[in-house]
Amino acid sequence: MENKSTSNTINKFTERLLLGTIIIFSPLIFSSLLGVLFKGEKIKDKAHLETLLEQEKKNLGIENKNIHAYFCDTIEDSLSKKINKNSYEILLSNNQRKLGILKHELYHIADGHCDENYKLLNEGRKLENTLRYLFVNEPKALIYGATGIKF
Ligand SMILES: [Zn+2]
Repeated sequence: MENKSTSNTINKFTERLLLGTIIIFSPLIFSSLLGVLFKGEKIKDKAHLETLLEQEKKNLGIENKNIHAYFCDTIEDSLSKKINKNSYEILLSNNQRKLGILKHELYHIADGHCDENYKLLNEGRKLENTLRYLFVNEPKALIYGATGIKF
């Protein structure tokens, strides 16, 4: 007998994996989504960043999470990572001070990507981590950052 909730979870994962693969391998879709991320509102300064951070945390229902966001001029690509239990960090690179990028990074936290990344790397499961990031988590965060859709 099949467990219904397990099979639903597997179906959802397959759906996301399929969509993610299509996005990653379709330069047109990929670059369009990326274009939208960069077209949006520019984040002027640290105070503006703090205001947007609180607003977007509310939109995603993650007000309870401890998240620090900074501008960083030593990295090319923005990133989000888990620091420890319920604590996260977002670094926005200098050429990516955009609301869409902030939303993208916050979605990685809200949807559990950073928790997953933290766990997999601690367990030495590097390849699995890379594949999940590339084909599932990154496309999902790309869609959210550009459209606001939680897939
Ligand atoms: Zn990302």
